[in-house]
Amino acid sequence: MTTDAASKAEMAAAKLKRAAQNFGEALFDALYPEQLSCDICLEDLQERGRYNLCAKCLEELPYVGDKICVNCGMPLEDEGEYCLRCQNNESAFKLCRAPFVYDGLARQMIYALKFSAKKYIVGTLGAFMADTFLERGMNAEIAVFVPMAQEEIKKRGFNQSELLARDVADRLNLPLLPALIKKKSTSEQKELTARERAANLEGVFECVFPQVKKRSVLLIDDVFTTGATSNECAKTLLKAGAREVSVLTAAITKQKISFEQDD
Ligand SMILES: [Zn+2]
Ligand SMILES: [Zn+2]
Repeated sequence: MTTDAASKAEMAAAKLKRAAQNFGEALFDALYPEQLSCDICLEDLQERGRYNLCAKCLEELPYVGDKICVNCGMPLEDEGEYCLRCQNNESAFKLCRAPFVYDGLARQMIYALKFSAKKYIVGTLGAFMADTFLERGMNAEIAVFVPMAQEEIKKRGFNQSELLARDVADRLNLPLLPALIKKKSTSEQKELTARERAANLEGVFECVFPQVKKRSVLLIDDVFTTGATSNECAKTLLKAGAREVSVLTAAITKQKISFEQDD
Protein backbone atom coordinates (compact mmCIF):
# COMPACT_ATOMS: atom_id res chain seq x y z
CA MET A 1 0.00 0.00 0.00
CA THR A 2 1.29 3.45 -0.80
CA THR A 3 1.54 6.01 1.99
CA ASP A 4 -1.35 7.84 0.41
CA ALA A 5 -3.57 4.80 0.36
CA ALA A 6 -2.53 3.94 3.92
CA SER A 7 -3.48 7.37 5.24
CA LYS A 8 -6.78 7.16 3.34
CA ALA A 9 -7.47 3.79 4.95
CA GLU A 10 -6.62 5.26 8.34
CA MET A 11 -8.99 8.15 7.77
CA ALA A 12 -11.78 5.80 6.75
CA ALA A 13 -11.18 3.70 9.85
CA ALA A 14 -11.28 6.79 12.06
CA LYS A 15 -14.50 7.91 10.40
CA LEU A 16 -16.08 4.54 11.00
CA LYS A 17 -14.97 4.58 14.63
CA ARG A 18 -16.48 8.03 15.12
CA ALA A 19 -19.76 6.95 13.54
CA ALA A 20 -19.84 3.90 15.85
CA GLN A 21 -19.18 6.13 18.85
CA ASN A 22 -21.95 8.54 17.87
CA PHE A 23 -24.34 5.65 17.35
CA GLY A 24 -23.34 4.20 20.74
CA GLU A 25 -23.97 7.53 22.47
CA ALA A 26 -27.35 7.99 20.76
CA LEU A 27 -28.36 4.48 21.80
CA PHE A 28 -27.24 5.12 25.37
CA ASP A 29 -29.24 8.37 25.49
CA ALA A 30 -32.33 6.59 24.19
CA LEU A 31 -32.03 3.79 26.72
CA TYR A 32 -31.21 6.04 29.64
CA PRO A 33 -32.92 9.41 29.23
CA GLU A 34 -31.24 12.13 31.25
CA GLN A 35 -32.56 12.01 34.72
CA LEU A 36 -33.07 15.34 36.39
CA SER A 37 -32.18 15.26 40.03
CA CYS A 38 -31.00 17.73 42.65
CA ASP A 39 -27.17 17.99 42.67
CA ILE A 40 -27.17 17.74 46.46
CA CYS A 41 -29.97 15.48 47.76
CA LEU A 42 -30.62 13.70 44.42
CA GLU A 43 -34.37 14.27 44.67
CA ASP A 44 -36.13 14.19 41.27
CA LEU A 45 -36.63 17.60 39.66
CA GLN A 46 -39.60 18.47 37.48
CA GLU A 47 -37.72 20.77 35.13
CA ARG A 48 -34.22 22.01 34.45
CA GLY A 49 -33.69 25.40 36.08
CA ARG A 50 -30.70 27.69 36.24
CA TYR A 51 -29.41 25.69 39.21
CA ASN A 52 -29.75 21.96 39.34
CA LEU A 53 -31.17 22.02 42.85
CA CYS A 54 -34.48 21.31 44.58
CA ALA A 55 -36.30 24.12 46.40
CA LYS A 56 -35.31 22.81 49.83
CA CYS A 57 -31.57 22.67 49.08
CA LEU A 58 -31.75 26.08 47.38
CA GLU A 59 -33.18 27.50 50.56
CA GLU A 60 -30.71 25.77 52.87
CA LEU A 61 -27.56 26.89 51.07
CA PRO A 62 -25.36 29.18 53.19
CA TYR A 63 -25.39 32.40 51.15
CA VAL A 64 -22.90 35.07 52.24
CA GLY A 65 -25.56 37.78 52.58
CA ASP A 66 -25.10 41.54 52.44
CA LYS A 67 -22.84 42.30 55.38
CA ILE A 68 -19.45 41.43 53.96
CA CYS A 69 -15.85 42.62 54.17
CA VAL A 70 -15.40 45.25 51.46
CA ASN A 71 -12.13 43.63 50.46
CA CYS A 72 -12.36 39.84 50.74
CA GLY A 73 -16.14 39.36 50.74
CA MET A 74 -16.20 37.41 54.00
CA PRO A 75 -19.45 37.75 55.99
CA LEU A 76 -19.04 40.11 58.94
CA GLU A 77 -20.56 39.77 62.39
CA ASP A 78 -20.27 43.45 63.31
CA GLU A 79 -20.75 46.77 61.58
CA GLY A 80 -17.16 47.28 60.41
CA GLU A 81 -16.15 47.59 56.76
CA TYR A 82 -13.24 45.17 56.85
CA CYS A 83 -12.67 41.77 58.43
CA LEU A 84 -9.80 41.32 60.88
CA ARG A 85 -7.54 39.80 58.24
CA CYS A 86 -8.05 42.70 55.83
CA GLN A 87 -7.66 45.30 58.58
CA ASN A 88 -4.18 43.98 59.23
CA ASN A 89 -3.04 42.81 55.81
CA GLU A 90 -2.71 44.39 52.39
CA SER A 91 -4.10 42.26 49.58
CA ALA A 92 -2.56 42.15 46.14
CA PHE A 93 -6.04 41.51 44.68
CA LYS A 94 -8.58 44.31 44.31
CA LEU A 95 -11.44 42.38 45.88
CA CYS A 96 -12.80 38.89 46.31
CA ARG A 97 -16.41 37.75 46.15
CA ALA A 98 -18.13 34.38 46.62
CA PRO A 99 -21.77 33.29 46.64
CA PHE A 100 -21.43 30.95 49.63
CA VAL A 101 -19.91 30.56 53.03
CA TYR A 102 -17.76 27.42 53.09
CA ASP A 103 -20.14 25.51 55.31
CA GLY A 104 -23.16 23.19 55.26
CA LEU A 105 -24.49 22.34 51.80
CA ALA A 106 -21.97 24.53 49.98
CA ARG A 107 -19.13 22.66 51.62
CA GLN A 108 -20.86 19.39 50.78
CA MET A 109 -21.06 20.37 47.09
CA ILE A 110 -17.43 21.39 46.89
CA TYR A 111 -16.36 18.19 48.65
CA ALA A 112 -18.43 16.09 46.22
CA LEU A 113 -16.79 17.86 43.28
CA LYS A 114 -13.23 17.72 44.63
CA PHE A 115 -13.04 14.40 46.37
CA SER A 116 -15.73 12.31 44.64
CA ALA A 117 -15.23 13.82 41.16
CA LYS A 118 -18.95 14.69 40.85
CA LYS A 119 -18.25 17.04 37.97
CA TYR A 120 -21.93 17.70 37.23
CA ILE A 121 -21.87 20.02 40.24
CA VAL A 122 -19.71 22.49 38.28
CA GLY A 123 -22.74 23.81 36.37
CA THR A 124 -24.68 24.77 39.50
CA LEU A 125 -21.67 26.32 41.27
CA GLY A 126 -20.66 28.11 38.06
CA ALA A 127 -24.14 29.63 37.70
CA PHE A 128 -24.01 30.99 41.26
CA MET A 129 -20.50 32.34 40.73
CA ALA A 130 -21.49 34.11 37.51
CA ASP A 131 -24.52 35.60 39.32
CA THR A 132 -22.23 36.87 42.08
CA PHE A 133 -19.91 38.47 39.52
CA LEU A 134 -22.83 40.38 37.99
CA GLU A 135 -24.75 41.18 41.17
CA ARG A 136 -21.66 42.48 42.99
CA GLY A 137 -20.74 44.71 40.06
CA MET A 138 -17.43 43.00 39.33
CA ASN A 139 -15.70 43.42 36.01
CA ALA A 140 -12.83 41.83 34.11
CA GLU A 141 -11.44 41.43 30.62
CA ILE A 142 -10.01 37.93 30.95
CA ALA A 143 -10.40 35.02 33.33
CA VAL A 144 -7.69 32.76 34.73
CA PHE A 145 -7.79 29.97 37.32
CA VAL A 146 -5.65 28.92 40.25
CA PRO A 147 -3.44 26.16 38.84
CA MET A 148 -2.40 22.88 40.40
CA ALA A 149 1.11 21.40 40.21
CA GLN A 150 1.64 18.47 37.81
CA GLU A 151 1.73 15.90 40.60
CA GLU A 152 -1.39 17.35 42.23
CA ILE A 153 -3.33 17.01 38.95
CA LYS A 154 -2.02 13.46 38.55
CA LYS A 155 -3.37 12.60 41.97
CA ARG A 156 -6.87 14.06 41.50
CA GLY A 157 -7.17 13.69 37.75
CA PHE A 158 -8.54 17.21 37.27
CA ASN A 159 -8.33 20.74 38.59
CA GLN A 160 -11.70 21.76 40.04
CA SER A 161 -10.80 25.47 39.77
CA GLU A 162 -10.19 25.06 36.05
CA LEU A 163 -13.57 23.32 35.60
CA LEU A 164 -15.32 26.12 37.51
CA ALA A 165 -13.42 28.77 35.56
CA ARG A 166 -14.42 27.22 32.23
CA ASP A 167 -18.06 27.28 33.23
CA VAL A 168 -17.99 30.81 34.66
CA ALA A 169 -15.98 32.28 31.75
CA ASP A 170 -18.44 30.69 29.34
CA ARG A 171 -21.44 32.18 31.15
CA LEU A 172 -19.83 35.63 31.37
CA ASN A 173 -18.45 35.51 27.85
CA LEU A 174 -14.91 36.11 29.08
CA PRO A 175 -11.85 34.63 27.39
CA LEU A 176 -10.22 32.05 29.70
CA LEU A 177 -6.44 31.78 29.72
CA PRO A 178 -4.40 29.07 31.46
CA ALA A 179 -2.05 31.92 32.33
CA LEU A 180 -0.72 30.59 35.62
CA ILE A 181 1.30 27.48 36.32
CA LYS A 182 2.26 26.05 39.71
CA LYS A 183 5.84 24.95 39.89
CA LYS A 184 5.67 22.64 42.88
CA SER A 185 3.13 20.82 45.01
CA THR A 186 2.06 22.44 48.28
CA SER A 187 -0.45 19.81 49.40
CA GLU A 188 0.91 19.91 52.94
CA GLN A 189 -0.75 23.37 53.29
CA LYS A 190 -3.44 22.09 55.64
CA GLU A 191 -1.04 21.69 58.52
CA LEU A 192 0.30 25.22 58.24
CA THR A 193 -0.69 28.45 59.94
CA ALA A 194 -1.82 31.38 57.79
CA ARG A 195 1.61 32.98 57.93
CA GLU A 196 3.36 29.71 57.09
CA ARG A 197 0.96 29.13 54.19
CA ALA A 198 1.86 32.48 52.69
CA ALA A 199 5.58 31.74 53.04
CA ASN A 200 5.10 28.24 51.63
CA LEU A 201 3.42 29.63 48.50
CA GLU A 202 5.91 32.39 47.80
CA GLY A 203 7.20 32.13 44.24
CA VAL A 204 5.41 28.85 43.39
CA PHE A 205 3.26 30.40 40.67
CA GLU A 206 4.43 31.67 37.31
CA CYS A 207 2.56 33.63 34.67
CA VAL A 208 3.20 32.12 31.23
CA PHE A 209 0.89 34.31 29.15
CA PRO A 210 1.99 37.87 28.34
CA GLN A 211 -1.64 38.60 27.31
CA VAL A 212 -2.46 39.50 30.93
CA LYS A 213 -0.50 42.71 30.45
CA LYS A 214 -2.58 45.85 31.13
CA ARG A 215 -5.67 43.68 31.47
CA SER A 216 -8.19 43.49 34.27
CA VAL A 217 -8.01 39.83 35.32
CA LEU A 218 -10.58 37.64 37.08
CA LEU A 219 -8.91 34.90 39.13
CA ILE A 220 -11.14 31.89 39.81
CA ASP A 221 -10.70 29.35 42.60
CA ASP A 222 -12.95 26.95 44.50
CA VAL A 223 -12.52 28.15 48.09
CA PHE A 224 -11.08 31.29 49.67
CA THR A 225 -9.58 30.23 53.01
CA THR A 226 -6.83 32.46 54.37
CA GLY A 227 -6.41 34.30 51.10
CA ALA A 228 -2.80 33.16 50.81
CA THR A 229 -3.34 31.41 47.46
CA SER A 230 -5.37 34.22 45.89
CA ASN A 231 -2.87 36.76 47.11
CA GLU A 232 0.14 34.94 45.72
CA CYS A 233 -1.57 34.37 42.36
CA ALA A 234 -2.60 38.04 42.23
CA LYS A 235 0.97 39.10 43.00
CA THR A 236 2.25 36.89 40.18
CA LEU A 237 -0.27 38.35 37.71
CA LEU A 238 0.49 41.93 38.73
CA LYS A 239 4.21 41.25 38.34
CA ALA A 240 3.46 40.02 34.81
CA GLY A 241 1.82 43.39 34.11
CA ALA A 242 -1.88 42.78 34.85
CA ARG A 243 -3.68 46.05 35.58
CA GLU A 244 -5.74 44.62 38.43
CA VAL A 245 -6.88 41.26 39.75
CA SER A 246 -10.31 40.40 41.18
CA VAL A 247 -11.02 37.04 42.75
CA LEU A 248 -14.16 34.93 42.42
CA THR A 249 -14.57 31.71 44.38
CA ALA A 250 -17.48 29.32 44.99
CA ALA A 251 -17.17 29.71 48.76
CA ILE A 252 -15.35 31.61 51.45
CA THR A 253 -14.55 30.48 54.99
CA LYS A 254 -16.32 32.46 57.66
CA GLN A 255 -13.74 31.87 60.37
CA LYS A 256 -11.49 34.85 60.82
CA ILE A 257 -8.38 32.82 60.30
CA SER A 258 -8.62 29.07 60.22
CA PHE A 259 -5.74 26.67 60.35
CA GLU A 260 -7.63 23.49 59.60
CA GLN A 261 -9.56 24.23 56.42
CA ASP A 262 -8.24 22.93 53.18
CA ASP A 263 -7.16 25.51 50.74
ZN1 LIG B 1 -32.07 18.90 47.06
ZN1 LIG C 1 -11.65 40.75 54.55
